[in-house]
Amino acid sequence: MNERLLDSKTKTKIAKQLEGIVGVEHITTQETDIVLNAHDAWPLSEAKIRAGEMLPLADIVVFPGSTEEVSEVLKIANQNKVPVTPVGGGAGTCGGTLPIYGGIQLDLKRMDKVLDIDHKSMLVRVEAGMVGIDLEEEVNRHGYTLGHTPTSMRASNVGGFLATRSGGSMSSLYGKIEDLTLGLEVVLADGLIVRTKAVPRHSVGPDLRELFIGSEGTLGVITEATLRLFPIPEERRFRSMAFVDVHSGLEAIRRIFRAGIVPSVVRFYDPEDTAMAMSQHFDIKEGDSMLLLAFDGAAEKVDYEERISVEICRENGGKDFGDGPSKRWWAHRYDMYYPTKFTTAGFSIGDTIDIVATYDKLENVYRAMKTAMEAHEAFVMSHFSHMYQNGGSIYMIFFTSQPDAETAWATYKKIWDDGVAACLREGGTMSHQHGVGLTRSTYTEDELGSGFQVLKRIKDVLDPNGIMNPGKLGLGVQE
Ligand SMILES: Cc1cc2nc3c(=O)[nH]c(=O)nc-3n(C[C@H](O)[C@H](O)[C@H](O)COP(=O)(O)OP(=O)(O)OC[C@H]3O[C@@H](n4cnc5c(N)ncnc54)[C@H](O)[C@@H]3O)c2cc1C
Repeated sequence: MNERLLDSKTKTKIAKQLEGIVGVEHITTQETDIVLNAHDAWPLSEAKIRAGEMLPLADIVVFPGSTEEVSEVLKIANQNKVPVTPVGGGAGTCGGTLPIYGGIQLDLKRMDKVLDIDHKSMLVRVEAGMVGIDLEEEVNRHGYTLGHTPTSMRASNVGGFLATRSGGSMSSLYGKIEDLTLGLEVVLADGLIVRTKAVPRHSVGPDLRELFIGSEGTLGVITEATLRLFPIPEERRFRSMAFVDVHSGLEAIRRIFRAGIVPSVVRFYDPEDTAMAMSQHFDIKEGDSMLLLAFDGAAEKVDYEERISVEICRENGGKDFGDGPSKRWWAHRYDMYYPTKFTTAGFSIGDTIDIVATYDKLENVYRAMKTAMEAHEAFVMSHFSHMYQNGGSIYMIFFTSQPDAETAWATYKKIWDDGVAACLREGGTMSHQHGVGLTRSTYTEDELGSGFQVLKRIKDVLDPNGIMNPGKLGLGVQE
């Protein structure tokens, strides 16, 4: 068992104070609860647990029921200089919720209500702890969709989406969570409650909302958000095209956007990923790369978008597979994860590096990362899964199998180090949707350059005692 931050006298004193705020039934110091909360979906932490290693533990887990309670909890933590790690759904893939310096885990799952639906402005105001799928189903009942469909819909919540700048499978059309958020409520380390107004655009200085979106709990706790809604589309139509190589498929995608067409789904699988995900269901030539498309909206709009997209694909050598592969992916898009089939045996370990780049760099980033990662006995397969007018993301998936734990963890780190270094060298950005957490913490300065100093200064001002999720985003690493 590892060392905790708090001695038992201090822990008892703080736990008593927190009980007074949230009620005795909403706080725990029980070993089982603490251990169960000690990990998220970071593959390395899961692999370490399977190998029998113990992860860092919090001293106390607290479940506030309101923004005011969050504020009071933070005041106590701040006065006592106790680290606070916010917990959303706990499905983050980067170790963001691991309480590496002990202290308090602040779990928002009780704050799970829709507060208001504004039909006229098409907005929903929701508490941060509401799970994605519950919110989507609630707004569906009113004829809307959030347009935000990450694969972790059933496990992650609104606060987690916002804290990590998450992206759903239809982000090409609807946008990522930062595009879908009009207003935020955030509690700072000293308990100050900050509300940004929900307006479509403004011209009143820098946008404070953006400061907290993606801050991964290091600058404050998100307690509420006002999100955009879209009418459920009249139609969602699917189409699939195979290409002889990655280059021609990427060129077709780029030209589709250039023609002013914005599909809801654009997923382009490289030959390895096509073979893994689709070849057993469809007669695809070995070495081909499959593009999945979907179009949302009124039938006439969808007719036009589909027709032009298919023309462009054909001009770039695309072979038509109809709607089969795309429809199949849509129907089975959560199967891999619920229940998870990612669990690897022994000292095998896999992970994903989701990066983003503009079209002029995208293919070079892909090739450089693949070469760098494969140099460490990794099997690498990829898809380009969130595409936009100016570029898009690559989801690089890797697996490696090693004889013992020590070699496995070291190889895993080398794949990450060299993969991210190749991405940055070729002009990419190291994450599109998963965030930084612990996985990418050591690369944040390389990614941001002198911008990292700005981030550090903001952190120092908003959280002078360094209590907010220390060690994440490369910030607040305690000696
Ligand atoms: C099977 C699976 C599929 C996934 N698919 C996708 C996908 O399609 N798209 C995608 O973007 N991601 C995906 N992810 C990654 C992950 O689920 C997302 O990044 C998600 O946004 C994290 O939300 P969460 O509620 O699980 O956050 P958590 O893991 O609980 O927290 C993530 C980080 O945010 C902080 N945080 C959480 N809540 C708050 C809050 N209220 N205020 C301040 N900080 C907070 C935490 O401290 C932590 O640093 C997937 C993960 C899994 C396991």
